[in-house]
Amino acid sequence: MGIQVQFRKEAAELLSSGAVKLVIGYGEGSTPERRRPVFVRTPAETERLVLDGACVANLSTYLISEGLLSDGKNVAVFLKPDGIRSINILAAEAQLNPEQVVIFGFDIENGEARPLAGRKASDFTQVVEAAKAAGLSPELQKEAERLDHISAAERFEYWKEQFSKCIKCYACRQVCPMCYCRRCIVDVNQPQWINTSSHTLGNFEWNIVRAFHLAGRCVACGGCDRSCPVNIPLRLINHRMAKEVLDAFDYYAGESTDQKPVLATFRQDDPETFIL
Ligand code: SF4
Ligand code: SF4
Repeated sequence: MGIQVQFRKEAAELLSSGAVKLVIGYGEGSTPERRRPVFVRTPAETERLVLDGACVANLSTYLISEGLLSDGKNVAVFLKPDGIRSINILAAEAQLNPEQVVIFGFDIENGEARPLAGRKASDFTQVVEAAKAAGLSPELQKEAERLDHISAAERFEYWKEQFSKCIKCYACRQVCPMCYCRRCIVDVNQPQWINTSSHTLGNFEWNIVRAFHLAGRCVACGGCDRSCPVNIPLRLINHRMAKEVLDAFDYYAGESTDQKPVLATFRQDDPETFIL
């Protein structure tokens, strides 16, 4: 049985037994190579579910919709390893109860979706360990190293040029499962901490604040990159921050539901190279 048929069948069983109230998965997109999120509430609707190599979005972001899990009922969701790591972080940060999340885990290999065994976040420990062992993205690492080896002035010019394109649409924030604040600092206007105009200073403020908020929390799902309408390489910034926390603290975001946030804890042998 193919993975799509298998997942449709299991989703229908979960819905008809009342084990879950909703299945969040992928459906046909606006073009043949695109997929969009679908929200399935009845067994008959599971026919809309699609699963193939084009299913790349991290659907965990929909689980933090206000009130979705507050009735205590379960929700099933299709997730790749990056999405499973997101669930671990959201649970560790008390944003959801992982017992309410039924995971249809899958990974994409050679353009094909293949199932991952398990249904609860804790079932996927080995999947996350394997992702950690595989290392941070080699493709991003190559570009990060190129930027590391140019001068600080050249690097500043690079990011100035990139951030100058930002139109402050906040699509990067909306798509990110780790950006769950009900009121984002950029939406506060009394006092106004961050300028809302899309000029270079305001754009630097916004993108740097976001990068710091994601330090040790980004799961490299690429949602921000894909949603940015002006193609700023946002994942590259978060990759750089992920490398810092990995090198300094041996910390890989989203390893388990009880992993303490890296910037909210310390060990006595943590490096203190930043203290003069
Ligand atoms: S910052 Fe971007 S790559 Fe990282 S978790 Fe958020 S959407 Fe995904
Ligand atoms: S998605 Fe791109 S353009 Fe929109 S706010 Fe984020 S960085 Fe700026």
